[in-house]
Amino acid sequence: MQDTEVNVSGENVPKPISSFESSGLRQHLVNNVKKSGYTKPTPIQRYSIPIIMNGRDLMGCAQTGSGKTAAFLLPIINSLMSSQEPPIVEEGTAQPSVVIVSPTRELTIQIYEQAKKFSHNSIVKVVEAYGGTSTNYQRNRVLAGCHILVATPGRLNDFVNKRNCC
Ligand code: AMP
Repeated sequence: MQDTEVNVSGENVPKPISSFESSGLRQHLVNNVKKSGYTKPTPIQRYSIPIIMNGRDLMGCAQTGSGKTAAFLLPIINSLMSSQEPPIVEEGTAQPSVVIVSPTRELTIQIYEQAKKFSHNSIVKVVEAYGGTSTNYQRNRVLAGCHILVATPGRLNDFVNKRNCC
């Protein structure tokens, strides 16, 4: 996995990182990454982390098992940890800072678990929402406020139409 060739296009692409320690990610986040057993970034993480941290748009494509989830989650969680803003809920509508739409319940749970792990013991609150389970329970969790909402499209649409979220 570590020697996978990476092709990047775009102008003035930020330089890839060589380690989590020198990535500029907050120390608390780097500690959580280390606790996950990751010793060094995978190729897609080496490129995506500085690109997203520099506020650039990114469309990434890499094979299954290449570390794509952490590739986008780490810079997002880093930014939320740095802002230290509490989750917003206004007039009964939750306004997550980040919405991650994923096609299946399994993938939603997987992304949610990783996001929880990386944001452990921090201000960052993560909530998941997917079909086939109690809407009430998930709605209450969303309405309690979150920074990151990981959801399948159907359940997300349901919450948006009922003005519970976003
Ligand atoms: P993903 O492609 O995001 O589904 O990740 C595939 C697997 O690789 C998951 O089990 C991750 O926990 C693991 N993984 C992701 N990044 C790293 C890394 N930098 N070092 C070791 N394992 C990783």
